[in-house]
Amino acid sequence: MGILEVKDVGKRFGGLKALSDVNLSVRENTVHAIIGPNGAGKSTLLNCLVGKLIPDSGSVMFDGQSVLGRTPYEINQMGISRVFQTPEIFGDLTVMENMMIPCFAARDGSFRMHAIENMMNEKEMVEQAEQMLIDVNMIDKRGMHSAAMSRGDKRRLEMAMCLIQNPKLLLLDEPTAGMARADTNNTIDLLKQIKEERDITIAIIEHDMHVVFSLADRITVLAQGTPLVEDDPQNIKGHPKVREAYLGE
Ligand code: ADP
Ligand code: MG
Repeated sequence: MGILEVKDVGKRFGGLKALSDVNLSVRENTVHAIIGPNGAGKSTLLNCLVGKLIPDSGSVMFDGQSVLGRTPYEINQMGISRVFQTPEIFGDLTVMENMMIPCFAARDGSFRMHAIENMMNEKEMVEQAEQMLIDVNMIDKRGMHSAAMSRGDKRRLEMAMCLIQNPKLLLLDEPTAGMARADTNNTIDLLKQIKEERDITIAIIEHDMHVVFSLADRITVLAQGTPLVEDDPQNIKGHPKVREAYLGE
């Protein structure tokens, strides 16, 4: 049993079958990449995992509990954090203020989230947020208004906002899109470091094959809303079906 078990999930948008019969098992403490051509249904699948979309059929189990019927907030409380394809940060706030949002939400909300439960005072929260900004190489931008930042920096900020929640499962939708090569490499290093230091499972949707093959323990190829192949990275590269559906596009 994986920490995340997706069974027979289907999702339609009117006449369009965005997902059909999707089965996916993500093992604990691994990085599982989901790749596939544009429009394959990758973001739709991720949205079904976090309560942004409700599948028409099938089941989604996380840590032995169903996520279906729960709100995005409740799913987040279960230990799932996500970075969407379009960064969801507060442009009017500074980088540091954005970092404080998940901290206060965890402290003052009706729930206590994992590691944050120990962060009872503001000084500690600030210290942790600063350390996280150091880890993502953004400490020099702590006072900057988020709206003024590059797309790559917005993504890194959003990733830091997720990581400070110390999620059990981190979902990333094209985290390096819009990043310069140096930032992409920093992101790879950051995720490798996080993976080594923590008990964390990562599911990553990614177009950049350098990122995929640097991080993934397991790869699922999605095409036209359904998994085509799931295998270890070394078997994916040369797989004829994958080349046909994806790499050769
Ligand atoms: P990917 O992330 O793999 O590029 P998406 O999951 O975004 O693919 O989209 C899968 C298919 O579903 C595409 O054909 C897309 O146009 C369609 N789609 C996605 N979201 C919606 C929506 N909210 N309403 C209608 N169609 C959608
Ligand atoms: Mg997408």
